[in-house]
Amino acid sequence: ELPPIRGDVQFDSIVFEYEAGRPALKGISLNVKAGQSIALVGHTGSGKSTIINLLCRFYDPVQGRVLIDGQDIRDISTASLRSQVGIVLQDTFIFSGTIRDNIRYGRLDATDAEIVAAATAVHAHDFIMNLPDGYDTQVEERGNVLSMGQRQLLSFARALLADPRVLILDEATASIDTETELKIQEALKTLLAGRTSFMIAHRLSTIRHADQIVVLDHGVIMEQGTHDEL
Ligand code: ATP
Ligand code: MG
Repeated sequence: ELPPIRGDVQFDSIVFEYEAGRPALKGISLNVKAGQSIALVGHTGSGKSTIINLLCRFYDPVQGRVLIDGQDIRDISTASLRSQVGIVLQDTFIFSGTIRDNIRYGRLDATDAEIVAAATAVHAHDFIMNLPDGYDTQVEERGNVLSMGQRQLLSFARALLADPRVLILDEATASIDTETELKIQEALKTLLAGRTSFMIAHRLSTIRHADQIVVLDHGVIMEQGTHDEL
């Protein structure tokens, strides 16, 4: 069980392989202080998603440990880990239901006021109010009521409401109009404030604002530092 965490995350000499003899991570050590944001960058196959997979405990390392607040995540219950490590995926997960249901997914106890507050904080409230039934508008998993940018803002509202200490963000690559792009940037700032975040970042603006940039290549860290240092 994990008591409310601060959100210090440490990768301690991690080796991981999906297939025996073909390591995807070859000795990764990372120290992320609570509240810091890390941008993971690197070519395809460099190991970005694998780092995220281990932090979510979809897999366990072959060697080394992943620690949250100094505790090996293998010693933490899955439920406890899930409640404190949130994830916003690139292919934003929208399910058939109302906008309201989609935002409160993972926080079923949330009040309407909390839902509206979360949506407002990430600049989603205005577009929601312009939908035919506002928060009661039905959306479909693969429907086109929502643009990619709107889906993204909705997923931010969901993450903000769930309020995890550690947030993982696999940023969408889809092209988004300039106005929405600006909203997303601002929303991201709100969402990341006070949380430890791991971002597979594609937007230059996101990378620039990260506290640390980690450049991966073939499962090793090639470079690490702030945007100004690199
Ligand atoms: P991308 O930018 O394409 O998403 P990535 O940096 O996220 O790339 P990973 O998905 O972490 O890269 O992959 C790291 C290595 O592990 C690659 O060599 C990849 O082929 C391999 N790999 C990833 N997932 C699996 C899997 N499920 N089974 C076997 N090998 C995998
Ligand atoms: Mg990936």
